[in-house]
Amino acid sequence: MGRVPTDFAVESRPVEGARPSLIELRDVEKTYQSGRLEYRALQGIDLTIDRGDFTAIVGPSGSGKSTILNIITGIDRPTAGTVTVGGERIDEMSEEELAIWRGVNVGIVFQFFQLLPTLTALENAMLPLDFAKESTDNAIDRATHNLERVGLGDKGDHLPMELSGGEQQRVAIARALARDPAILIADEPTGNLDTDTAQHVLDLLSGLNRDGTTVLYVTHDTDLAAHAHKTVTVRDGRVVESG
Ligand code: ADP
Repeated sequence: MGRVPTDFAVESRPVEGARPSLIELRDVEKTYQSGRLEYRALQGIDLTIDRGDFTAIVGPSGSGKSTILNIITGIDRPTAGTVTVGGERIDEMSEEELAIWRGVNVGIVFQFFQLLPTLTALENAMLPLDFAKESTDNAIDRATHNLERVGLGDKGDHLPMELSGGEQQRVAIARALARDPAILIADEPTGNLDTDTAQHVLDLLSGLNRDGTTVLYVTHDTDLAAHAHKTVTVRDGRVVESG
């Protein structure tokens, strides 16, 4: 492996008052090829997310919201443009570098939770630590702490099917926090939850943001977007409004 991705979560403190950008997309395009047809999902995205931001990406279905998140996490690669996160050009990393970088720096939460059904809440919350070859004792301690952070300290031995939808999403958030990432990315994290539960999950993300995590989430619900400090509106693969 060439360059070793650094853990920018432990970088020295920025200059007082400065708001260094953490995520920068410049002229990002994404074209999907389907047979002989091309679909331009992103058509020149410029986006800056500062350290400590709490940002909602909104826009109609199919406008490119998930594609933007996938490009920021390196799950998907841009067809053109540059993606810089924590000073690293992640669009230039190899798959292997990206996987290591993502594991250290980014926590990801999905609409359908994606918990492993045969593992308990605690075991699900431990998974990224197991992959990172943490000792079992450390993994148990950290996952227990993260379940407490999401208000599920007493549900560690429950299987996902024994938890409500909101509780399952909390476990998924605890799993995303496993390695104390600087960035938490959530794609429609409340899309499968009722309104009250959705508000609770957003309150939780808001609390994690207050504790220092940069949070970026996609929603099509304007009420839920109002939790964020900044809203980015995407339409037809372009940012049409930001502020
Ligand atoms: P949103 O999250 O706003 O609903 P997406 O980012 O998922 O939108 O998708 C943007 C557009 O790109 C959609 O028209 C979608 O059909 C298309 N798209 C997404 N992923 C693929 C893919 N793997 N192959 C082809 N088209 C895709």
